[in-house]
Parts: sequence; C-alpha cells; structure tokens
Amino acid sequence: MTPTQRVPIELPNAKPLSAADPDSLFAMAAGSVSRACEVVGAPEYVRAILSQPKNELIVHFPVRRDDGSYEIFKGYRIQHNNALGPYKGGIRYHPEVSLDDVKALALWMTMKCALMRLPFGGAKGGVKVNPRDLSSNELMRLTRRFTSALGNHIGPDHDIPAPDVGTNAQIMDWMMDTYINTHTDGAHQGMVHVVTGKSVGCGGSEGREKATGQGICYVLSELLPELNLRMEKLRFSLLGFGNVGAFAAQALNAAGGKMVAVMDHVAALRNPDGLPTADLYQHVVKIGSIAGFKSAGTRAVSPEEFYRTPTDVFIPAALERMIDQQKASWLDCKVLAEGGNGPTTPAGAEILRQRGIAVLPAILCNAGGVTVSYLEWVQNKTGVHWDLQRVDSELQRTIVLTARRVRLAAHQHDTDLSTAAFGAALDHIADSYLRRGIFP
Ligand code: GLU
Repeated sequence: MTPTQRVPIELPNAKPLSAADPDSLFAMAAGSVSRACEVVGAPEYVRAILSQPKNELIVHFPVRRDDGSYEIFKGYRIQHNNALGPYKGGIRYHPEVSLDDVKALALWMTMKCALMRLPFGGAKGGVKVNPRDLSSNELMRLTRRFTSALGNHIGPDHDIPAPDVGTNAQIMDWMMDTYINTHTDGAHQGMVHVVTGKSVGCGGSEGREKATGQGICYVLSELLPELNLRMEKLRFSLLGFGNVGAFAAQALNAAGGKMVAVMDHVAALRNPDGLPTADLYQHVVKIGSIAGFKSAGTRAVSPEEFYRTPTDVFIPAALERMIDQQKASWLDCKVLAEGGNGPTTPAGAEILRQRGIAVLPAILCNAGGVTVSYLEWVQNKTGVHWDLQRVDSELQRTIVLTARRVRLAAHQHDTDLSTAAFGAALDHIADSYLRRGIFP
C-alpha cells in the first residue's frame, strides 16, 4: 500500500450489541445509542467508536479494617470517550457495582456531557462495597487507597471524578487530598479540580449538592406545558429519596408541586394531599430511611400500591433497571422523568410507549449534577468562587437551552424525547470527529 492510500474505516454491524446478554446494561445502553445513530444518520464510524469504551481499568487493593484485619476490594474506572474534553463522571460505592454496569454508566456520561454541550467526555468508576458496612475511618482508607490505585489515570485535565450513588462530598474531599499528596509536594493547591462535588470548604461549588434534583425541576418546568401539565399543583411520586430524590422533591415542592408517594430501599409512603418534603428529608438525615415517618394523612403502603398511586409525574431516582414490564404496567402517571441513570428496561420502555406515558430521558433530567460539576471545575481553574444565585442561574440557563434542543430534535426527526436527546448528543460528537478526523 502506498502512503497516500487510505485504510477504509471498517463499518461495524450494530447487531452484535443487541445479540448480547439481554440483562447487560451496557448492551441496553449501546443498543439505544445505536438506534439513535440510525434515526439521526450519524456516521458509521461514530457508532463504532462509541460502541466500546476507550479504556477499562480494574484495580484490586487491600484496606485495613478497624479490627486490624485486611480486606481486598475491587474498583473500576471506565473512560468511555474524550472527543469533546477530559473524561468526566462519578464514582459509585455499591455492592452490586460491576464492569458491565460501569461501562453503561460511562457511555451515558459521554452522551450527557455532549447533549449539555459541556467540554467533557464520559467516564464512570466504582468500588464494589457497601459503604454502610464501613466505619468513617475505613471509608477514608478505602477512598485514599482506591485513589492512589487510580494513579495517573485520573487528573484535573484528563479524567475528573465526582460523586455518584453511595459517595458524597466527604469522599470527594479525600480523593482530591490523596491525589494532590501523591502528585505534588502536597503543598500545591492548583489541582483541586481533579475532582468535583467537593465540599464548599475544599473548593466545591455552591449548589452542587442539590444540583441534580434542581435540574429535574428545571427540565419539568420547560417541558411540561407542552404535555399539558403545569408545575402548580403538579402531583409527583418519587422512587428513591437519596441525593437526587430528596432535592428534587424539595425543589418541586417549592415550585408548587406536591409529592403524593415516595419509596426507598426500606419503605413506601403515600399521602394524596402531599408529603412535607423538608420534614421527610430531616427524618432521613437522622434515621437513614423514610421508614417510620409520620405526618397528617401519610400512610405506609406496599410497593405495588406505591407504583399504582395516581400521579402526574413519576420520577425514578434510584438504581438502574427498576422500571421493568410489570412496574411499567402498574404506573398511573402521564410522564416518567428519569431522575436516575437507566431506570427503565427496554421491555418497560415498550409498555410505557404503548400506554402513552411520555418519558423524559435521564441524560437530560439528571444532567444538573454534571453541569454544576463543570461550573465547579471552571471556578477552580480560574480561582473564583461564585454565589449560589450565579450557579443556579447558569444551571437553569444550561438546562432550559438543552431541553429546547431536545424538543427541537424530537420534532426534526419525528421521534421520542429519549432518541432525540441521544440524537442531539450524537450530532455534537459526530461534528467534532468530522472536523478533527481520526488519528493518525
Ligand atoms: N454521577 C453524576 C452523574 O451521573 C455526576 C457526574 C459528575 O458530576 O461528573 O451524572
């Protein structure tokens, strides 16, 4: 072959993705991206590149328990794509963390950042651990050891972790501190943006903790009128009352909505007149669950009753794959707003489609978190600290513009909002590849 001859880009076949293990979250995620590629006519090589992560890192590391014994833990960092900027995505601590799930979550981060037009790629990480089983000191040692195992695979302009399920600002503070101490003489603060979602005292942004929940509220205010729903007196149900759910509930409440049902890993509650969301949050901070919460008109219900509660908007804000065929057939709502990542199985999504329930996709609904992560990164890089009002208005502006972009893509391609959101993300990624080409 002469040097001027080009090797043709091999056209991948999308079929192997859908032919994979039907329970594979990555196959599910890659399948929906692949279908969106067809709808928006994205080039084949974009589909090929996105069909696998760029890098997959698995580490095993020992941690000393408080009783003096040692335990080996397994951790992951998947870097899915960095065409648009440094890899970006949360770190999850959960006993069910698996390579397949983290790959799917990393792919969704690529799509989410591209849809939001943030200058980031997509990544995700996790440690297979139940954080409730560890003391605070054990969690700190685990976090520091995991961070040091990640070594140079993370970095302030290379790959930037953030909180996810089972992690919080304290864990991000420890990650940042460990990274700085293992990459500099320990005195250098110019690298705090290696991690976002830190506490405000350690360089975190105002408004980061509530950002994901707040973002759901902004998405709903923008998209509900078209679905003939209004924020005032909006009835909503929440599956999950963690960082996403608890703040979404309070933001929606403040916007005039009422939470008629809520379920977490322990209990389910219903109140047709609306649960007091701020009091419930205080209860959860103390007890660790919504179980045992009492207020006028609130009663405990079974999971099935919870799903069947009549409501305008149902918000799954917990783990993946929770809305399967059966749950989708129980739901009595007009709109499902995906607060958590990948909450709906393909079979569940099909039932929702047949029943005429509109789905607002996760890469839009829960993008508030990574959007304020970006604002934190910018503040750290430029050495400034914005007040809450400035952060909130930037968040609202970004979310509203993106919601409009998704609505426009749905009209243009005559498709549902989920496919439209992936399509709008793919357009941006494809445009970048088209302009910069593929190395070498
Ligand atoms: N874990 C969050 C998400 O899934 C936030 C990621 C980030 O801030 O980087 O979007």
